[in-house]
Amino acid sequence: MAKSKQLQNFYNSKAWFNARDYKLQEQNFKCERCGGVAETVHHIIPLTDQNYNDIEIRLGNDNLMAVCKNCHKQIHRELDGKRTIEFDHNGQLKPF
Ligand SMILES: [Zn+2]
Ligand SMILES: [Zn+2]
Repeated sequence: MAKSKQLQNFYNSKAWFNARDYKLQEQNFKCERCGGVAETVHHIIPLTDQNYNDIEIRLGNDNLMAVCKNCHKQIHRELDGKRTIEFDHNGQLKPF
């Protein structure tokens, strides 16, 4: 399923950068999975067009997880099975 413009825009929004920064600082930039240096923030319940309007999923601190790039890749590999995934320079999942 292709990711929509809506999600792409969200990942470039100030609201997202703020929520991400907050989580990273709250975790002292420590990866919650391996204890390494967290560089990005993962949605525990993956954000989709279907749940986009749920602000707790979209921006809720409880649905976010500070992770390093490696763990983030691994988490998505596990979630997405064999689907090819790519990340942009911010470590965010690239829209398909
Ligand atoms: Zn990690
Ligand atoms: Zn993620």
